[in-house]
Amino acid sequence: MKSDKKRKKKHYIIKQIKQQQIQDLKRAAKYRREFLGNVSHELKTPIFNIQGYVHTLLDGALNDDNVNIKYLQRTSKSIDRLIAIIDDLDSISRLESDELKLEKTSWDILELMSEIFETFEVKTKKKNIELILPKRKRSIMVYADRNQISQVLYNLVSNAIKYGREGGFVKGIIKNNETNIILTIQDDGIGIEKQNIPRLFERFYRVDKGRSREEGGTGLGLAIVKHILEVHEEQISVESTKNTGTKFSFSIKKTIINE
Ligand code: ADP
Repeated sequence: MKSDKKRKKKHYIIKQIKQQQIQDLKRAAKYRREFLGNVSHELKTPIFNIQGYVHTLLDGALNDDNVNIKYLQRTSKSIDRLIAIIDDLDSISRLESDELKLEKTSWDILELMSEIFETFEVKTKKKNIELILPKRKRSIMVYADRNQISQVLYNLVSNAIKYGREGGFVKGIIKNNETNIILTIQDDGIGIEKQNIPRLFERFYRVDKGRSREEGGTGLGLAIVKHILEVHEEQISVESTKNTGTKFSFSIKKTIINE
């Protein structure tokens, strides 16, 4: 009698596990379908633009000095867009593959921050945005994959400039805790309405599609950021006020010094 009860219980548990597995597979299939749909949708716009301009040029516009250079420039912009999307998709697939191994080493976060800020000097000059680095001079050693964290910082600073204010600022702030640091990238730009914040890290999600495309965005930057921080087992948070500005903050573990 007792063993019959046990058998029934075991049977029930196996059934539950199977149901859970079926649900997981269904969810994964739905997610794959949506992702493929999004990718082809994103690729279509630049490809159709290129097709349109090339056909128009071949149909005679090539000899029209009023438009030929303009059409070629637009073609070139669409090609840049395609490359940006493919690069970001490549980053995501590498992050998702099981082969990805984090190469954690010990390095100075302040040095990386100034390297990243430097790469944006031309862009910020164009928009008259002031880049403000943390004041501290002494190095702060962290233990993480430098290339990956460099991509996180690059994407966050790039967004802060893209969605920043003409004549505004982009500020890097470091909070030095005992075992970790909290790094914040702050801007005084367009900000994000509260209801949009939970969806920011979804692939291809943009608050304002037009503005993102205009600025050369792919809608994948923050998805990549989240992914990298997840594999590092670190956290990211967002604080934002519409028309006032945005702060993205994330943690990184410090190097442990054994004395
Ligand atoms: P995108 O390539 O469109 O910039 P991201 O994944 O990097 O894609 O960001 C998703 C969306 O989040 C952006 O389209 C933008 O609407 C919003 N966003 C990201 N960073 C900021 C910021 N600093 N200020 C305002 N909005 C931002």
